This record gives sequence, structure tokens and C-alpha cells, in this order.
Amino acid sequence: MLIGRPISVIGGGIGGLAVALACAQRGAQVTVLEQAEAIAEVGAGIQISPNGWVVLEALGVAGALADRSMRSTAVRLRDFRRGAEVFTMALRGDFYLVHRADLIEVLRAACVSAGVTIRLGVQVTEITPDGRANRLALGDGSSETHGLTLAADGLNSAARRALNAKSRAFFTGQVAWRATLPGRDLPAEAHVFMGPGRHLVRYPLRGGALTNIVAVEERDQWAAEGWHHADDPENLRVAFTDFCPEIREMLDDVQAPKLWGLYRHPVARHWHAEALALLGDAAHPTLPFLAQGANLALEDAYVLSRILADEPDTATALARYQAARKTRTARVIEAANDNATNYHLRPGPLRFAAHSALRIASRVAPHVVANRYRWIHSHDVTR
Ligand SMILES: Cc1cc2nc3c(=O)[nH]c(=O)nc-3n(C[C@H](O)[C@H](O)[C@H](O)COP(=O)(O)OP(=O)(O)OC[C@H]3O[C@@H](n4cnc5c(N)ncnc54)[C@H](O)[C@@H]3O)c2cc1C
Repeated sequence: MLIGRPISVIGGGIGGLAVALACAQRGAQVTVLEQAEAIAEVGAGIQISPNGWVVLEALGVAGALADRSMRSTAVRLRDFRRGAEVFTMALRGDFYLVHRADLIEVLRAACVSAGVTIRLGVQVTEITPDGRANRLALGDGSSETHGLTLAADGLNSAARRALNAKSRAFFTGQVAWRATLPGRDLPAEAHVFMGPGRHLVRYPLRGGALTNIVAVEERDQWAAEGWHHADDPENLRVAFTDFCPEIREMLDDVQAPKLWGLYRHPVARHWHAEALALLGDAAHPTLPFLAQGANLALEDAYVLSRILADEPDTATALARYQAARKTRTARVIEAANDNATNYHLRPGPLRFAAHSALRIASRVAPHVVANRYRWIHSHDVTR
């Protein structure tokens, strides 16, 4: 157990709050340092699959989240031009369509109930590991010394920089627009409209009150990475102008989309020092093509807390944690990278053959494609 053990967590996103809660439930005295002035999330959807849901169940927050979310019953791959179905994968198990703000709120509330201290407006600008302690330089110019520190500070992690030589992320040549619109009474399913060099994912949120879209386009021009870059909705409409009327009409309602440049980052080589560990996007930023980044962060959080509770020597525990997580996360990320290519095939023999094969598989053996990802979704870190 971690009874009375002080633990600091950098970052109050999905990974940070989950690991804070998991450690607090095992008895640790946890403090979260979050740079934002409030624990909040962008207004967007997120798909949680059974491998992430088991963690939310183990943390005791799945019930509260299920009340605000929709259980997803299918993923439908559709052709962009007419919207015709190419492949349908029925989902069995705990696949949920979740509003990010709802996930963050249930985690935050559970953290507060478990006695976690959340310090807001605290930006960690630099970390210097020093044996069993870490010196944290803060944005206001002060510095503090913390013992065991778990860093879930996302894509531009200061902790990752402290543990690794700078690695080069490269622009994938793809950008993603994200927007939510008023609901359209859509069924609880994710629909993927596949076009040449582009695809659009659409699903409902909060009982159908909102519709979430993520629209991905291949392009040469560089675009910035991050949730906060606004774009003119006209650019989104122009990029998807040859999609079926169902999509075009929906895009007419988009008012303030955000544009995210998609980058590939290598999985960090070193995840830990003697008393410092990375988790979530800080260790392994994940492209959204298999909806796994947050699910992996939840898995990390649970595994890290359990190993810390089991293993009395912290440095050994952190090495065990890296060994337990690195291969799986790298494999999932590789699978996500591959998926973009499959969605974006150009008209021609390859696209015809691939879509025909999917149509036939959909009728004859839908389980074959579903089984392709079973190793991701059925992984249960809580067992
Ligand atoms: C378009 C898109 C769609 C996606 N859809 C899905 C999906 O459907 N399913 C899924 O599983 N994943 C999805 N993902 C991936 C998912 O969003 C991320 O993997 C996940 O948010 C990572 O969580 P995290 O806690 O590690 O990092 P983050 O969510 O980035 O949280 C980091 C936190 O740390 C704080 N912070 C950062 N730096 C500092 C600092 N220096 N000091 C103090 N605090 C700091 C930040 O303010 C933030 O609160 C998607 C990603 C994109 C781009």
C-alpha cells in the first residue's frame, strides 16, 4: 500500500487525475500541480473502449460517467460520396461515447473525495531529478523540491525533456478539425466517412444532445499542434465539399472549429528516473486513428499505482512500470498510425479491392475485422 506516502502529480488531464485518484485510493497523500486556472477540458468527444473502461470501473467512477455518456453499439465505415455502408462492426462490451468535460469532472470530483490536493495555476517549467527528489522550477520563478513525482503533463512534457534527449516529432501531413454541434438524434454509433485523402468521424454525445465531429485531411502545409487553434469553418466545408449531403449539411452548422496538426512523436526512450515517471501523452503521444490515447493513459495510471503499491523500492517499481507498459503502448501507436492510410485510399483498383473486401467481410465474417483489434480492447490491466 501507499499509506501516507507523499506523491506529486504534474498535470490535471485524464492521465494525471486518474493516477492521482488511483494512488490516493491506495492511501497516498497526493498533490496535483496543474498549469491551468481550472480543471476543465475542451468541449469535444472521446471514445472510451473496454480497456480504458475497466480502469474507470476499478476507480469507482464508471457509474457516474455512464450516466452522462452513451454506450456505443457499432462502428460503421461509410463511403464519402453517397454515404453507402462499406463495413459495420457491431460493438459488444463497454465502448462509450463520452464528453471530455464529463470524464474530467468525474475524475476531479472523485479525486477531491479521496483527499487529493489540486493546486491550480502552477506551471512546472523545468524538472531536475536528483536521486530520490526532484527540483521543480515553476512559472512564477520559484522552485520547490518534491519526492516521488508522476508526470502526466502531455505532449510537451517538461518531465520528458528532463529524462530524454530531445526527440524530433514530425508533421504527418494530416490535420484534424474538431467541433461539436447541436444534436441530431443520431444513434449511439461512430460513423467514419472515408474519402480520398480525408475522413470524417461523427458520433453523438450526452444522449444525442450534441454531435461530435473529427475531420482529418491530408495536406502539405504545416499546422500547429494543440487544441486551441481556431480555424475558419469555411476551410472545413471546402475540404469536405465533395462528401455526401448528410455531411455537407452538418458542416453548414459548424461555427468555431479547432484545427490540430497531427504529429508523430517517438515513444519516449526513458520513462523514469529514481523518483520520477512519465505517463500518458508525456510518454507516448498517440495519433487519434484508433481512439486510444486516453485509454492508454488510463491503463498507465492503473498499472503505475498498482506497481508502486506492491513494490517497496521506488526505483525498482518505476523500472517495472516501464517494462510493463512500453511494448504495448508502442504497438498500439503503430496500429493507430497504420489506420490513417486505410481510411484515405484514393479512387482506383486498391480502394475498390479494399472496400469490396470489407463489404464482403461485413456480410460473411464481421468478426474477422473485429478480432483484429481484440488485443487492444480486451486488455484488462486491473486483473
Ligand atoms: C483530435 C483528437 C481526438 C482524440 N480522440 C481520442 C479518443 O476518442 N479516445 C482516446 O482514447 N484518445 C483520443 N485522443 C487522444 C487523447 O486526447 C490524449 O491521448 C489524452 O488526452 C492524453 O491525456 P494526458 O493526461 O496524458 O495528457 P493531456 O490531456 O494533454 O493533459 C495534460 C495536462 O497537463 C497540464 N500541463 C501540461 N504542461 C504542464 C506543465 N508544464 N505544468 C503543469 N501542468 C501542465 C495540461 O494543462 C493538461 O491539463 C484524441 C486526440 C486528438 C488530437
